[in-house]
Amino acid sequence: MSLITKLNPKSPSLEVGGSFASLSQSDIAAAMTGLDALQEALIRFYWLGDIGYAAYLRDQAIIELCNRGVEGELAFKMGSVIVDDLANSTCSACNGTGENSKKRVCGHCDGSGKKGLSDRELAKRLEVPKTSFQRRYKEDYKVVYARFEFIANATARQISHKLG
Ligand SMILES: [Zn+2]
Repeated sequence: MSLITKLNPKSPSLEVGGSFASLSQSDIAAAMTGLDALQEALIRFYWLGDIGYAAYLRDQAIIELCNRGVEGELAFKMGSVIVDDLANSTCSACNGTGENSKKRVCGHCDGSGKKGLSDRELAKRLEVPKTSFQRRYKEDYKVVYARFEFIANATARQISHKLG
């Protein structure tokens, strides 16, 4: 069973394997050894659903957005939305399995099982017109979102053997 399946409390496969449920807090803490603060926060938030890390991750997102030139209040809003988007990224069409009912690749998430908010939803949450979101902010949003998602997935793979 993949680590992703094992770690993802939302995954329907969890009940099949049941491995995550059998992991103790000390098993998890041991697997976290050596991770930096951002990696640990992403594992706990993205994979383990610990919303206590949301504010930390939002602040990290804001720092990255500011470094990219996104200004004050919009950077704050965008940071909050990125964290929210990450927390709710399970594809609703396939329920995170990546396959449709015919066992083919899910067309809504291209088989990843994950799906972020649409441009329309993002623009609405950021209170900017969709066109200006797409023209001015989408790249900044996607770069920071993708970086967090990448770290969450890469770190999950990195610690998988420790949780074996
Ligand atoms: Zn899907």
